Amino acid sequence: MAAIAPPRSGSGRPLWLDAAPAGIAEAARLLRAGALVAFPTETVYGLGADATDPAAIAGLYAAKGRPHFNPLIAHAATLDAALELGDFPEPARALARAFWPGPLTLVVPAGAASPVCELARAGLATLAIRVPDHPVAQAILAATGRPVAAPSANRSGHVSPTRPEHVAADLGAGIAAIVAGGASPVGVESTILACLDGEVALLRPGGLPRAAIEARLGRPLAAHRGDGAAPLAPGRLDSHYAPAHPVRLDAARILPGEACLGFGLPLPAGAEAGLTLNLSETGDLAEAAANLYHHLRALDARAHRGIAVAPIPPEGLGEAIRDRLRRAAAPRA
Ligand code: AMP
Ligand code: MG
Repeated sequence: MAAIAPPRSGSGRPLWLDAAPAGIAEAARLLRAGALVAFPTETVYGLGADATDPAAIAGLYAAKGRPHFNPLIAHAATLDAALELGDFPEPARALARAFWPGPLTLVVPAGAASPVCELARAGLATLAIRVPDHPVAQAILAATGRPVAAPSANRSGHVSPTRPEHVAADLGAGIAAIVAGGASPVGVESTILACLDGEVALLRPGGLPRAAIEARLGRPLAAHRGDGAAPLAPGRLDSHYAPAHPVRLDAARILPGEACLGFGLPLPAGAEAGLTLNLSETGDLAEAAANLYHHLRALDARAHRGIAVAPIPPEGLGEAIRDRLRRAAAPRA
């Protein structure tokens, strides 16, 4: 791979890198030079930037159009590397050991020694940390040797990307490279837990179901106490993950001219073959999560009056799927 100066927030098309040793080495070189690199994780594609470099992080906020009050998740290659990034109280340590690598983010006190820059934390004294369970993400993080902030690789507020083509469609011009590693197998973002003040609170449902966490903790998760103007997890903002078309939830019947996002069979009455995609014909919530953003993007690209979504049960991954669809359906600011 030719050694080129990486664009920071630059123009032009991003490099398309294979998820093979040469591409991974180039991705790490670009990240260490302060550039933005999109890469696959098991949840969604992340837009990576060196979390120790405030200039790189400023470029990341700009490329996504992300509000500066919305802090980033720092990613590490291994449990040991992650434990260096913050002050883990005991429940956080036990959860990290149980579920990392995996689709779980832990918010802990950053501590005085955290190498993650203040801008990546949006000035907070706490830090969100994750070890992704994806071989390409792990290889890039290990080769970079630094914590990498990696929010979803889409314009802020849009549908998240689960394939490299989604990233190119949303962010093409503003980033240095995209590492192409196929479809993200989980398909929804990580579950976020705040482990602060001796309590474990759910900030965002996600790829690790609540029941698995509660079984490990031996108690129910605390509900998040909202804190007004600066939301603790802005992925919880009302309008987010939004396609261009309006979205209607829990549709028992599809109206004339509406597209249908199905779940299980039979489809809701009125679904038209040419305007219907099924998240999972067998009603499998893991398959539905993996298909969610790809199907939303595909339906959004067709001409119709809106996307009506079949009822989806709230158990297991259904909690995260319903959370994302509720925000996709929320009134736009
Ligand atoms: P994403 O944009 O999908 O990477 O989501 C990151 C989520 O983590 C956002 O909703 C952030 O608000 C949340 N987050 C990151 N850092 C913190 C933190 N220190 N405290 C609470 N939430 C955080
Ligand atoms: Mg996002």
